[in-house]
Amino acid sequence: MSPAAMPSSGHQGSGAPHLVFVPSAGMGHLLPFTRFITAIADMGVDISVVTALPTVSEAEAEHFAGLFAAFPAIRRIDFNLLPFDASAFADTEPFFLRWESLRRSAHLLGPLIAGAAPRASAIITDVTLASEVIPVAKNELKLPCHVLFTSGATVLAFLAYFPVYLDGANADHLVGDVDVPGVRRLPSDYCPRVLRNPDGLFTKQFIVNGREIAKADGILVNTFDALEPEALTALRGGKVVPGFPPVFAVGPLKSTPSARRSDKADSPIAWLGEQPARSVVYVAFGNCNAAALKQIREIGAGLEASGCRFLWVVKTTILDREDTAELRDVVGDGFLGRVQGRGLVTKEWVDQEAVLKHPAVGLFLSHAGWGSVTEAAAYGVPMLAWPTLGDHKIIATVIRSGGFGVWMEHWSWQEEDSEESSVVSGVEIGEKLKEVMGNEAISASAAKMREEATKAVAPGGSSYRSMHEFLAMLG
Ligand code: UDP
Ligand code: UDP
Repeated sequence: MSPAAMPSSGHQGSGAPHLVFVPSAGMGHLLPFTRFITAIADMGVDISVVTALPTVSEAEAEHFAGLFAAFPAIRRIDFNLLPFDASAFADTEPFFLRWESLRRSAHLLGPLIAGAAPRASAIITDVTLASEVIPVAKNELKLPCHVLFTSGATVLAFLAYFPVYLDGANADHLVGDVDVPGVRRLPSDYCPRVLRNPDGLFTKQFIVNGREIAKADGILVNTFDALEPEALTALRGGKVVPGFPPVFAVGPLKSTPSARRSDKADSPIAWLGEQPARSVVYVAFGNCNAAALKQIREIGAGLEASGCRFLWVVKTTILDREDTAELRDVVGDGFLGRVQGRGLVTKEWVDQEAVLKHPAVGLFLSHAGWGSVTEAAAYGVPMLAWPTLGDHKIIATVIRSGGFGVWMEHWSWQEEDSEESSVVSGVEIGEKLKEVMGNEAISASAAKMREEATKAVAPGGSSYRSMHEFLAMLG
């Protein structure tokens, strides 16, 4: 959009509001921030990005470097984290630890942002930091604070309602079925499993952030009205939590090509170019899901048995820096040779948006992380959802109600991976892949979702209007 089409701002000096972004860790959190930032970069706003150092993953380090190189006008505010002793939190996921470390350093943000020039006009932070950053913004800096919520509106409704649910529940029912008013009843099995541990770091963060988010000045969500109509209506109508802040559905957010990583010559995109339209199954489970070896082998067997072409991103560790396994040892002897020509397997980071956009891709076997779901919806790729952890089952309800995919509710892994019975067999995976690949009704719903997504962000569409309302509010 041209600056001329911008809502006018009441600011003096350059006249542009100065937004200071405080993102969290994990690519699933960082990517939507970058997408939002680059979407508004030419809309007459000044932008600074607080960059926590050192970065936790290699992917994040490269991502920040790419952003600042491609957008020199975006200022970088280095945020050196205080030392954090994680030894008290044995068996805690590295990203939860990272969030805790960011939260414990959040008091340093006051002076850091106070020193920014021009003076900041608003702060936009991540939900994982909300209960620490909102008070710094409002009490100390006297600035409005908004949250860019990186999962969907249905998860936002769950998060916002969860403290209300807890206040009314028996202490021994930390997670029973949660009936989110106006949205849907979530059986306890759909709720993030980590919440069953009342003393866990994640549970504590989730509850305090859920309470505090109601004090934000506005909440931006990477979704669009046609994708989550019930949740958005309920949140906006105060049904979930009375007096909830305004919710701006501004998605699906997409990367601008210049903020993407450079495409290597041997990239999967080149390989996709040689495959027939809609013939390839894309298999990827996000950045934080490391499957058990047994399950990886069954996925391989399923792909082989399906007869489909495939592009498979394999991960064996949660942190990319720790992933030193050889691909052929992971997928098993002979696998790569047997599938040569019709299957591509990689442990590298792929440009997933470019993959999903590619006409050769006909199905996405996914863990149902929100980033993946919004990308599949935006590009009209049917999904076979295999949710595992966190909010992924709640997200799978969105895929199911949107009709653009199938959720294999009885498939599970990882959390119960010590039990033989929880491994899904290659035979079952192969059959399901074939079946969903050939399902015309799902393809039609996916194509319809793509149309809706395109309309939402086009001038006059619901997300376009929401984005402009948000920008107008900053003035
Ligand atoms: N992603 C990617 N290449 C990869 C792995 C992930 O581009 O090799 C991107 C993907 O497009 C998505 C994000 O990383 O935008 C992952 O977010 P999601 O919410 O799907 O899953 P999470 O990793 O948070 O579980
Ligand atoms: N989340 C939240 N409040 C918190 C911490 C996390 O709402 O205090 C959200 C987070 O954005 C995600 C969901 O809870 O949507 C589940 O987190 P998960 O463990 O799946 O992490 P992620 O997949 O986002 O890395």
